[in-house]
Amino acid sequence: MNLPKIAHVRAYVVRGGGADYHDQGEGHWIDDHIATPMSRYPEYRQSRQSFGINVLGTLVVEIEASDGTIGFAVTTGGEPACYIVEKHLARFLEGRSPTDYEKIWDQMYFSTQYYGRKGLVVNALSGVDLALWDLLGKLRGEPVYHMLGGAVRDELQFYATGARPDLAKEMGFIGGKMPLHHGPAEGEEGLHRNIAELAEMRSRVGPDFWLMLDCWMALDVNYATRLAHRAHEHGLKWIEEALSPDDYWGYAELKRNAPTGMLVTTGEHEATRWGFRMLLEMECCDIIQPDVGWCGGITEMIKISALADARGKLVVPHGSSVYSYHFVITRHNSPFAEFLMMAPKADAVVPMFHPQLLGEPTPENGRMRASALDKPGFGVELNRDIALHRPYTH
Ligand SMILES: [Mg+2]
Repeated sequence: MNLPKIAHVRAYVVRGGGADYHDQGEGHWIDDHIATPMSRYPEYRQSRQSFGINVLGTLVVEIEASDGTIGFAVTTGGEPACYIVEKHLARFLEGRSPTDYEKIWDQMYFSTQYYGRKGLVVNALSGVDLALWDLLGKLRGEPVYHMLGGAVRDELQFYATGARPDLAKEMGFIGGKMPLHHGPAEGEEGLHRNIAELAEMRSRVGPDFWLMLDCWMALDVNYATRLAHRAHEHGLKWIEEALSPDDYWGYAELKRNAPTGMLVTTGEHEATRWGFRMLLEMECCDIIQPDVGWCGGITEMIKISALADARGKLVVPHGSSVYSYHFVITRHNSPFAEFLMMAPKADAVVPMFHPQLLGEPTPENGRMRASALDKPGFGVELNRDIALHRPYTH
């Protein structure tokens, strides 16, 4: 049972949406006065692109086996991640068997630990890990979700993230998560406007539809606590990523302060089993939201999910399209998934990582059958009509 060995690892940068979903044109809801840690500076308040949220672009990792089979994945990280993949990580794959993903992960992580551990380096590592799982699935002729133990449900259910939960409800989603628009620097008036926007949306969707607020690390404990209690009157289901991902102590306090029944969620900018162990053991939240393309890939997601499961916590991965779908369908403690509404007005379902992936499945009526994932690997191909730039070689 010898699979072909890994022959080549290549890394490309791509611009224009896709895995770097903040890299959008003007007028997109995702860049419309969203509260961020930079909102304290008026000059960076209106647009996240103004402070460089889209500066990196998408990283594409390709891994080619000796028989010519190619696995690939997309995540964020752009040109600096290309450097890390080509100049550092590739050595741990070339000449090896693609079945050795545990040893490869371990060597990628510990060889970069002195400058890595989180952020860009783990994004790059995640991209390599996902490309490796894609290659393995393509060589074995199996979808990734089969290799992860198979589907535990017949279909995925989705909530929608975007500016229009009212339209998401009409499209069949189970809930809608809106960006918070005003941060603490906008004072009491900003807080009132945040609550008014939630109240307006509640009046449109009725009492039972899930509504959530994504605070993108913008708040402090006091503001988040006040927002949570006022939002509770309008049936807010969860408050997401209210604080800096470094502030585990603040999250623990917010979790204690939050109204009974409201969920505190976070983790999209956390990474690895050790980072999530902090969130879980410090009782920071009710749901962890690792991004498969940022937390260490599928190999690490398995470990993060097991830690959460043992503590009775849910794992609802952040965005990340097919890389999440193949995981969520295999785990009981991931009962639903996120779908990012990437249409500029959040008024239509479009593939999350458009235009970078070909064959990317989308929910219909807020659902996706497991059979939609029944293709080898992650079941998608790289769109080679878009400009791929390979800035480094090795
Ligand atoms: Mg979020």
